[in-house]
Amino acid sequence: MKKTIKDYDLKGKKVIIRCDFNVPIEGGVIKDDNRIRQSLKTIRYARKMGAKVILLSHLGRVKTEEDKEKYTLRPVAEALSKLLRKKVIFINKTRGKEVEETIKNMKEKDVILLENTRFEDLEKQKESKNDKRLGKYWASLGDIYINDAFGTIHRSHASNLGIAKHLKSGVGFLVEKEIKELEKLTKNPKKPYTIILGGSKVSDKINLLKNLSKKADYILIGGGMAFTFLNAAGFNIGSSLCEKEEIPFCKQLLEDYPDKIILPIDIITAKEIKQNVKTKNRFVNEIEEDEIGLDIGKKTLEVFKQYIDDSKTIFWNGPMGYFEIKDFSKGTKGLCEVIANSKAYKIIGGGDTARAVTEMGYEKKVNHISTGGGASLTFLEGVKLKALDSINEK
Ligand code: ADP
Ligand code: MG
Repeated sequence: MKKTIKDYDLKGKKVIIRCDFNVPIEGGVIKDDNRIRQSLKTIRYARKMGAKVILLSHLGRVKTEEDKEKYTLRPVAEALSKLLRKKVIFINKTRGKEVEETIKNMKEKDVILLENTRFEDLEKQKESKNDKRLGKYWASLGDIYINDAFGTIHRSHASNLGIAKHLKSGVGFLVEKEIKELEKLTKNPKKPYTIILGGSKVSDKINLLKNLSKKADYILIGGGMAFTFLNAAGFNIGSSLCEKEEIPFCKQLLEDYPDKIILPIDIITAKEIKQNVKTKNRFVNEIEEDEIGLDIGKKTLEVFKQYIDDSKTIFWNGPMGYFEIKDFSKGTKGLCEVIANSKAYKIIGGGDTARAVTEMGYEKKVNHISTGGGASLTFLEGVKLKALDSINEK
């Protein structure tokens, strides 16, 4: 077990908290502040305990000097000040005299936010390639390091793995909760355990499929990835998404788990990917050459419902169709409804799936929506989360 923020006496200590403030910002306006709100519990706790709080986060990918304006954390500092009802001091630097002086003058309960850690990437990708000196420098600014950035927990960056090596360390409430929830899927999940996978590509999810197919009772497959499976099973899939190089993998999986993998029996097709084109609900053996499969059909949803209703644990990753276009969002919406009504323990993972569930109004009807897209999938692949490596054990 990893140490958590609760295992330390924070009073008067300079506590560096690595948050995940990687939020969508357009023209200086934050489009979705979920990640900021998710970080509040840890920040509030640190303040309540009398810490001097130093916040670090990355935002987007910084490749050129021009990117700096787009990816400054200044709007986050403003949003955070409102949410905390406490002025968050923003320093538009990642290191140097101003940073050090401000920290030296901090009082208990003060909060400062340094500039986007990835500004350091402009020089030899120091943050993303975990430059040893940079991690050591950031560590020199504090007494205790807390990692609460679940979204990057699978990466080895200077601001997570790098700093933690040099300080007493622990995880924050968000990381603790994410891991506790995801472990419900890996350590003795309540059975029957059903996984629903969709999204665009099989190739993105191969390791996930390999690892979870051993643990799950049923794997329901929809979305774009279903077509490579359908093709592997011998169906003509017309102009639907197909990853030819993954067909052998799909064939093998279908052979290894003939009763576990459940493919769609009908599909919504169209000749173009846009709103208001003519659509057809086709059985999978009826798809024509010039048709693209863009959603699961009604009968498939009924079949999926039978498995879901019978399950005690459900994990869903990957939309069932091209849900960004309303005409192809019915399968995803229908699945939201079926899952919401099931009595199982329900966990959602993946950036687009989380977005679909939230936008469609089902956020409160599931037990957990993981905030980390890649991080949660990496965890479920059974791969160790790199940044956790340097966090102290209890
Ligand atoms: P997540 O981010 O939740 O892991 P993915 O990134 O794997 O999900 O997949 C999401 C994308 O899959 C969406 O942009 C959606 O449009 C696309 N998609 C789903 N079904 C299809 C389909 N039948 N054809 C093409 N794209 C699809
Ligand atoms: Mg995605």
